[in-house]
Amino acid sequence: MARRAPFLNSRLQGFGATIFATMSQLAADTSSINLGQGFPDTDGPIEIAQAAMRAIAEGHNQYPPGAGIAELRSAIADHQKLFYDLRYDPNGEVLVTAGATEAIAASILAICETGDEVIVFEPYYDAYAAVIAMAGATLVPIELHAPNWSFDPDELSRAITSRTRAILLNSPHNPTGKVFNVAEIEYIAALCIDADLLVITDEVYEHMIFSGSHIPICSLSGMAERTISISSAAKTYSFTGWKIGWVSARPELITAVRTAKQFLTYVNGAPFQVAIAFALREGRRFTDLVVPAIAAQRRALSVGLAEVGFEVLGGEGSYFLTTDIRPVTDEDAMTFCLELPRRAGVVAVPSSVFYQNPERGRHLVRWTFCKRMEVIEEAVSRLEKLQLS
Ligand code: PMP
Ligand code: GLN
Repeated sequence: MARRAPFLNSRLQGFGATIFATMSQLAADTSSINLGQGFPDTDGPIEIAQAAMRAIAEGHNQYPPGAGIAELRSAIADHQKLFYDLRYDPNGEVLVTAGATEAIAASILAICETGDEVIVFEPYYDAYAAVIAMAGATLVPIELHAPNWSFDPDELSRAITSRTRAILLNSPHNPTGKVFNVAEIEYIAALCIDADLLVITDEVYEHMIFSGSHIPICSLSGMAERTISISSAAKTYSFTGWKIGWVSARPELITAVRTAKQFLTYVNGAPFQVAIAFALREGRRFTDLVVPAIAAQRRALSVGLAEVGFEVLGGEGSYFLTTDIRPVTDEDAMTFCLELPRRAGVVAVPSSVFYQNPERGRHLVRWTFCKRMEVIEEAVSRLEKLQLS
């Protein structure tokens, strides 16, 4: 049989295994504490899990409707109303997806022409670059600067060209934890209106906020009709393996995203949709449970990392703290993280992978605190004994 190499198409050349899978494998291989990949080591509330088990037993096991089951779409619309006073019609303005990951991919694939530009704040979550590449579009990075992870407003406005299609905004932000403030959101919104851009917002950490508050950009005047808002049950309820995400947007945008989505997964997770509808319908009950526990873990990790000597540059939200490692080592972040399991039995993520030019993040390392308190404490005590040799 005739074969043609390389088999990976040119758009995906350079995208190897995701850093999260690589670092989790490294943690497993070295029996290290995994402060790398952002998934909780404790499942979400048992009542939600029981709702999923019941849904399986009761026969929610065939393809759900393409847009998601009606109860879940209603519950998502109610969530947007309860938390942000946003109004979405569950019939036509809400779409259930296979996690936020599929929502992001379907959105980019739906709205971008080959050669379009998508502005993304850097450092950025790895999937963005890959799906922008798959769409044949170009990622235009705008750097967030430590310690506050602020951006240069002029640089952002200068980055807009006739090819710019959208700004992809992730707040609370992975990997820095930055929560974009009102002034920043207003500035981005004004630019989008002025240049007639779309906005894709990744709000998966909307409930992981430790100071300040989450402002959905679509709540600003003139933004609802140009914003594709994305979130997920993964982080909010600590069920990252269920892959129930969603999009809320005006009907024309939802139709566009659904057109791509239906040929990616078609539908997903019927019984989990039932369970997440139950969780969302409980309003603040479950969201109020998660944040205080994780806030305490965040504090413990932040204090511990500072005591070890790292400069903690964390933001106000998400699952992550970022450190500048230069007070502790001259090594680059990748070398440091690859050696860390052997030296200390801890895994973290080199933030250099979140930059187009890894040199810009060579001194930055991301640590997750979505692990039990005793795990965080043990990780810190191991790091305190770290021998750099
Ligand atoms: N966006 C960001 C910023 C993330 O950190 C993640 C990882 N959870 C996702 C999207 C993907 O979310 P999901 O697991 O719902 O696909
Ligand atoms: N969002 C998680 C993180 O940033 C991991 C999700 C994934 O592995 N794709 O660590």
